[in-house]
Amino acid sequence: MKFQPQASHFIDGAYVEDSEGKLIDVIYPATGEVIAQLHSATPAIVDMALKSAEAAKAEWAALSGTERGRILRRAADIMRARNYDLSVLETHDTGKPIQETTVADATSGADALEYFGGLAGSLTGEHIPLAGGDFVYTIREALGVCVGIGAWNYPTQIACWKGAPALACGNTMVFKPSETTPLSALKVAEILIEAGAPKGIYNVVQGYGDVGAALVTDSRVAKVSLTGSVPTGKKVYAAAAAGMKHVTMELGGKSPMIVFDDADIENAVSGAILGNFYSSGQVCSNGTRVFVQKNIKEAFLSRLSERLANAKIGDPMDEDVSFGPMVSENQLNIALGYVAKGKAEGARLVCGGDRIDGDGFYMQPTVFADVTDEMIIAREEIFGPVMSVLDFDTEEEVMARANATEFGLAAGVFTADLTRAHRIVAGFEAGTCYINTYNLAPVEAPFGGSKMSGVGRENSKLAINHFSEMKTVYVSMNDVEAPY
Ligand code: NAD
Repeated sequence: MKFQPQASHFIDGAYVEDSEGKLIDVIYPATGEVIAQLHSATPAIVDMALKSAEAAKAEWAALSGTERGRILRRAADIMRARNYDLSVLETHDTGKPIQETTVADATSGADALEYFGGLAGSLTGEHIPLAGGDFVYTIREALGVCVGIGAWNYPTQIACWKGAPALACGNTMVFKPSETTPLSALKVAEILIEAGAPKGIYNVVQGYGDVGAALVTDSRVAKVSLTGSVPTGKKVYAAAAAGMKHVTMELGGKSPMIVFDDADIENAVSGAILGNFYSSGQVCSNGTRVFVQKNIKEAFLSRLSERLANAKIGDPMDEDVSFGPMVSENQLNIALGYVAKGKAEGARLVCGGDRIDGDGFYMQPTVFADVTDEMIIAREEIFGPVMSVLDFDTEEEVMARANATEFGLAAGVFTADLTRAHRIVAGFEAGTCYINTYNLAPVEAPFGGSKMSGVGRENSKLAINHFSEMKTVYVSMNDVEAPY
């Protein structure tokens, strides 16, 4: 098998196998072929990974931030130098077109390693002067062993978005990729070692939900960062709470994108395409509820249909292909199930809607119009290439409807009226908002959700606060006054 790694897990600086673990078939979504076989971690493997992370943490935290940062920046350089090979692996793991993986996966992971590597040397506490010459200083300390649990849509990116800030702060990590896309996190672990990281600071264990659950409940773990669905988030958050652990939850969404009649239609259509069909629609922050002002609805839909006809669907390894298969047969069936629900509820199918014949897990980019707020396709996260277009009359009305969801991951507005744009984003109940664009997530900007879409933020300087805590030191310059 062409993509078979040396072994399933990467612990204490080396590949480790335990074939007692449940089998994980890694399937290339474009063909349905098994490209690697791994084993889910047994309790012995989970213990070995946590022991290694625990043993490595004191020495790693004792390095200066600059020294830690140097290793992360070296890892970023190695990732960039190997971008093509890593992208080929990511394409086989996820089915995403090589056109995407070469610009959005290892490169995004490298950005995180470089950014947090750069920040590492400047992480400090503060000095707080008090009356009478007394003062307080704070020491920024690592949390300890952190657990990262990933989803399958951006495996390399998620492994680095969690690993880089954790390591920059002096923590160690045990990362469990999604069982659907287990391959690339192993490469991240390998590259860190090659960059000079001490063994044990970044371990990868494979497995299904039960392995994630075993990691979350272990008393050696101080922090859990999950990227996944809301139902999983609820379970993981509750389990972490029992041990009073820190959490970051990057969960699902059903984000609104509002298009006013003064918007540049071409840009709005581009935003809707990126925000619904990039990665075959398997992006958490997608703007899947596209609210279009009534008087431009038909113009918007006809331009959208014309543009979608130019999507090049096919072999994701072909550099001209812009739309690949879905990650798995299961995910394909979920999306097709929602298409059936949309039709049954009376939404108008504008284009797509069908599976594409063949062994791969392909479906057509799909657009529903005349969708109403109550329809299931407008309420539930589909996580596939299915766009719902809803129409509206007034700003006030669309604002209320855009926020009428339990989710709050992202939201966007397209308009030429910038005063209105800022008013709209001020009203959005969402963690990440866009004006006249959609779905960009540079490492410099905080990323994360409100409401049921999550807790905490990834990326930017804010991520540092989620991977460190402050120790307060009160220093008296005076005699101690006691009442008796
Ligand atoms: P999922 O919730 O099924 O699984 C996520 C991860 O959690 C997997 O690694 C899984 O093995 C693990 N897991 C499952 N049960 C667990 C348990 N009880 N304890 C610990 N770990 C457990 O999600 P998925 O299908 O892999 O990914 C799709 C979801 O992820 C979508 O809802 C999507 O919106 C969300 N997502 C969010 C972001 C974000 O940044 N907000 C990014 C990508 C994906």
